[in-house]
Amino acid sequence: MLSGPSGVGKGSVIAAVRRRHPQVWLSVSVTTRPPRPGETDGVEYHFVDQAEYDRMVEAGELLEHATYAGNSYGTPKQPVLDKIAAGLPALLEIELQGARQVKAAMPEAHLVFLAPPSFDELARRLTGRGTEEPERVRRRLDLARIEMAAEDEFEAVIVNDDVERAADALVALLKIP
Ligand code: 5GP
Repeated sequence: MLSGPSGVGKGSVIAAVRRRHPQVWLSVSVTTRPPRPGETDGVEYHFVDQAEYDRMVEAGELLEHATYAGNSYGTPKQPVLDKIAAGLPALLEIELQGARQVKAAMPEAHLVFLAPPSFDELARRLTGRGTEEPERVRRRLDLARIEMAAEDEFEAVIVNDDVERAADALVALLKIP
């Protein structure tokens, strides 16, 4: 599982890993967050309404689920179980509460934290991304402080000062043949 504050570059690092190793499977989460420009249903996320999300939670279809900055997110369980059963590397890009739930349910899962070079750099990236309203950026930065304080719960910390270098580190941890 790869966790880390919003804006740290988890998506870019995972994209770099998958360019090199297309066999690495990335879980596609469900979310109630509206799509950002350029996001496609079924690619970045399965975009669902609250009723469908609640139904999936009730039906036990999510491996973990959490609320983050006012939106709900969750990992569909069956695709992850299928990959593990097939012996294929499965990557989950999720926030802290979800990572804790997966670790509790699957102690063999590895928790990797992607950290920014500094908090100021994270604030610059999150503001510069221009995808969120200022109030939402503030909320995400408040959550980032909490997430960064939990770094010690992770088995490995990768500092994203350079995407390709961070991808090298993640590939090493994934032990991809
Ligand atoms: P964003 O809205 O920026 O795409 O994602 C917000 C946060 O939710 C990020 O930290 C991202 O890693 C996390 N996230 C995405 N999908 C899931 C999920 O299925 N479960 C959990 N717990 N967090 C997720």
